[in-house]
Amino acid sequence: MKQKYLVITMLALALQIQAKTDLKKVEPMNWWVGMNNPNLQLMVYGENISLTQPTLNYQGVQVREIHKVENPNYLFIDLMIGAETQPGKFTIEFKEGKKKVAQYEFELKGRNTKPNIHNGFNASDVIYLLMPDRFSNGNPGNDSTINTLEKANRQNPNGRHGGDLQGVINHLDYITETGFTALWLNPFLENNQEKTTYHGYAISDFYKVDPRFGTNGQFVELVDLAHQKQLKIIMDMIFNHCGSGHWFIKDLPMSNWIHQHDSYFRSNFRAPVVSDPYASEYDKNQMLTGWFDTNMPDLDQRNPYLATYLIQNTIWWIEYAGLDGLRIDTQPYPYKEFIAEWAKAVMAQYPTLNIVGEAWIQQIPITAYFQGGAKNNDGYDSHMNSVTDFPMHGALNEAFNEREGWDEGMAKLYNILAQDFTYSNPQNLLVFADNHDLNRFYESVGKDLNKFKMGLSFLLTTRGIPQIYYGTEILMDGKENQGHGFIRKDFPGGWAGDTINAFTQTGLTAEQLDAYQYVKKLLNWRKNNETIHAGKLKHFLPDDGVYVTFRYTDNQAVMIVLNNSDTNSKSLKTERFKEVMDGFHSGKEVITGTVYETLDLIEVPAKSALIIELRK
Ligand code: CA
Repeated sequence: MKQKYLVITMLALALQIQAKTDLKKVEPMNWWVGMNNPNLQLMVYGENISLTQPTLNYQGVQVREIHKVENPNYLFIDLMIGAETQPGKFTIEFKEGKKKVAQYEFELKGRNTKPNIHNGFNASDVIYLLMPDRFSNGNPGNDSTINTLEKANRQNPNGRHGGDLQGVINHLDYITETGFTALWLNPFLENNQEKTTYHGYAISDFYKVDPRFGTNGQFVELVDLAHQKQLKIIMDMIFNHCGSGHWFIKDLPMSNWIHQHDSYFRSNFRAPVVSDPYASEYDKNQMLTGWFDTNMPDLDQRNPYLATYLIQNTIWWIEYAGLDGLRIDTQPYPYKEFIAEWAKAVMAQYPTLNIVGEAWIQQIPITAYFQGGAKNNDGYDSHMNSVTDFPMHGALNEAFNEREGWDEGMAKLYNILAQDFTYSNPQNLLVFADNHDLNRFYESVGKDLNKFKMGLSFLLTTRGIPQIYYGTEILMDGKENQGHGFIRKDFPGGWAGDTINAFTQTGLTAEQLDAYQYVKKLLNWRKNNETIHAGKLKHFLPDDGVYVTFRYTDNQAVMIVLNNSDTNSKSLKTERFKEVMDGFHSGKEVITGTVYETLDLIEVPAKSALIIELRK
């Protein structure tokens, strides 16, 4: 009888606690001691949580201010974490009067001291970009989950195909053996919406890996394994917008958390207005406050709570996972002042990190405007070391298809490099032939393997940080105007039952195998070549379709020759290049191993590239 009474009492107590505990979220969920910035702002979400008074008691941690906002379901708590604070856990109690109605156990962890973290990325790296849904399905059990709305459908080009983090983990060796030194994953945080969620750019929880990709812990496992293999990890961050499935969109903390319009108002997608000295307020407003897509609410980073939330979210992932770099999506679309503040805060905490901004702009001066350290007339500095080199991308995709002319063909590549004085640091530009939003490079060059090799040889020897899109190494095709699904096809071998397995080069065509061996050889050579990583660049005006570039140091030189002529093999007289070649008497071609006993005359077949290491 006594026992029964006890059970009933405990049940009643449990129910009582449950009824009163309406705390749904505390973000960030935890933090670390010993960070540069002692301030931390917690966003607390729960029904009528603003009616409560939060308290905590932990040595070194002080509650500085508690903010109530428009929506009573939110509280923002400003903490100050003293420099001497020790790692540990404490309870934040939420009281109504004297009655405790909710509590949260908050952990202050010790700093991440794992080896080989926060390494940044630079021109010594080559980045592999892959889309997790389309690379490899390592766990068919998570392709669909009960709690996520869109279920797997591999027949739909724009559906979820089941690729995941386990698939990436399973094939890290493929990535490193091919010769890549850094890995950029398209976003993998939760995107819980009805459709088109596979690409990851409509985040519904900034602190959670999408369960169809895996778990937060699995991402850390991926990073740790990658670091053991000397592979750096770059995470994709999206702060211009979130997904309409985001939990805070369903119950906004404040009306100005996002840009709200009377009816759907789309961005004009005109990045140049951000730097344009003559831009109208109308156009700037549409660029910055218009929505990227109907299911992507546009965040208003002028809201200081939101700005802090996003900055802390970035720092949380860097510290939690030990990231090496970041890629910021749609750099010109959020307020540029916020982007600068964000990048500055991240780099202050992690000076060895690197950030690349996606500045999708065709004009060089406007691209340069968005790179950190730019001497802009309006004083703007994004504090972001790297930006994407879309002008170079454009030239690479056109040059090999063109007949030689004053501004066509090889001159197109030459002219891009000739404008490098515009950039604060050309060596930090991200160079690429394609990515997840663009025509596959093999498609751009009309599925011509010779042009493909010329493009890759230029990309991997010019200044900047090369990025290669998954599958480009095996000539995957697809045009952007067919639909995004067609430039984001499944990597062959990533799914059980695939008849072709590109991870083991089983079933590839002769052309695919040729391309793969070419890329692999070039990457593995480049990996240890300091002349390419950090050497100077000198190029000579293209002459009759032949474009010659050198990368060189005081003692080393690499000569890159592109012959863009369709039919004519060229006997290249090297007299013109003696300011670089003086003192070098022989050379070896990197791909074929061909040895040049003398360098006076070099035969260059039509539509080909030679990469020759010069020898004294
Ligand atoms: Ca899966």
